[in-house]
Amino acid sequence: MDGTQRRVAVLGSTGSIGRQTLDTVASYPELFVVSVLTAGSNMDMLSEQAAKFRPSKVVVANPQSRDAFEVFRAEMASMGIKASCGDEAIADAMADDDTDVVVTATVGYSGLIPTIRAIRAGKTIALANKETLVVAGDIVTREKEIFGVDIIPVDSEHSAIYQCLHGEDCNTVERLWITASGGPFRCVEPSRLAGMKASDALRHPNWSMGAKITVDSATMVNKSFEIIEARWLFGIPGERISAVVHPQSIVHSMVEYRDGALKAQLGVPDMHLPIRYALAGSRRLELPSVERRLTVADMSHLTFEEPDVEKFPGIALGHYALQHGGNTACVINAANEIAVDAFLHDRIGFTDIVRIIEKTLERADYVPAPTLDDYVESNTQARRIAAGLI
Ligand code: NDP
Ligand code: MG
Repeated sequence: MDGTQRRVAVLGSTGSIGRQTLDTVASYPELFVVSVLTAGSNMDMLSEQAAKFRPSKVVVANPQSRDAFEVFRAEMASMGIKASCGDEAIADAMADDDTDVVVTATVGYSGLIPTIRAIRAGKTIALANKETLVVAGDIVTREKEIFGVDIIPVDSEHSAIYQCLHGEDCNTVERLWITASGGPFRCVEPSRLAGMKASDALRHPNWSMGAKITVDSATMVNKSFEIIEARWLFGIPGERISAVVHPQSIVHSMVEYRDGALKAQLGVPDMHLPIRYALAGSRRLELPSVERRLTVADMSHLTFEEPDVEKFPGIALGHYALQHGGNTACVINAANEIAVDAFLHDRIGFTDIVRIIEKTLERADYVPAPTLDDYVESNTQARRIAAGLI
């Protein structure tokens, strides 16, 4: 640590984005150093990462057992690393003095409170955990303004839009175009969708990601979340945000301007680029030799089509949530987390996921102007309703 390196806390370092973030740190040792690592329960991988990256702190949300955690804690102590456990310890660690930037790479609702803590402690946020903005985008963006921090998107579509907006006047934006691969079931007959299993949904054509977002991509609920995420990141109303299916995942998203110009960011489908761009504070670093550049062959067959809303009703939930406002998106997110988990455990069918979300929306209390406590309560209520429907 020489005072010029950015100190990086990784919330969810053992996951897909977390591991790619650590690859990036390792590729630029002169620029980045790790301050904090956290995991849900995978202490084996966290321990390996800690030995390699030597953070000052590690936190596990839900250790398998107290005994296992004590062994882990002793192992960390022998390396001079402080280990703690529980959700509160994770949120506390996000406010650590030793951190400049927090990469939010945890999954689902678990990102919300730690991200708010990081914002309140003045940390730059490299935001992968889109659910934070889906659940409570109004509060998160308000806190960001109050505490004067930057939220730099890691989600590839939003990173693309962020890059396309660079140097432009946001008032001249006509429309944001969020590209969607269409997921693993794009070419599956609608009548066969109900029979699709978790193992089918987890076979994403272009991206290798965690299980939850891979299922969200198959239902296209992920695109709804990204529409909501874009609304809060860029302040563009939902009516001017559209999704377009682009099966090759080369054009990561586009911004259309008032004068008719369309700007796009292209690249291979690899999360290392958006992670690198966010970690470096929107600077362009040299491509590491292990990653590849886009070729003409990659760009020779780029196609675009309208999303099929009848086949994938999950894609309509984003606009619905923005129109209805209040806690609507929070309810959708909670029901989705419960339904996706049930689907991954073969307890419900594929098409039940969106059905459970819709039913939960009918039954959950509507809160027009939620406080953070209201969101916490609404999340709990919606999870209970969705679990009851399964
Ligand atoms: P993964 O499931 O691969 O990883 C999730 C990480 O969060 C793991 O480190 C996991 O720990 C940890 N975690 C899980 N539950 C909890 C909890 N309750 N409390 C604390 N930590 C927890 O997810 P991804 O990396 O795929 O996705 C992370 C986020 O990034 C998601 O919000 C996703 O939507 C977003 N994103 C992901 C992309 C991708 O390419 N993967 C692309 C764009 C966005 P453990 O390993 O111990 O379970
Ligand atoms: Mg995305």
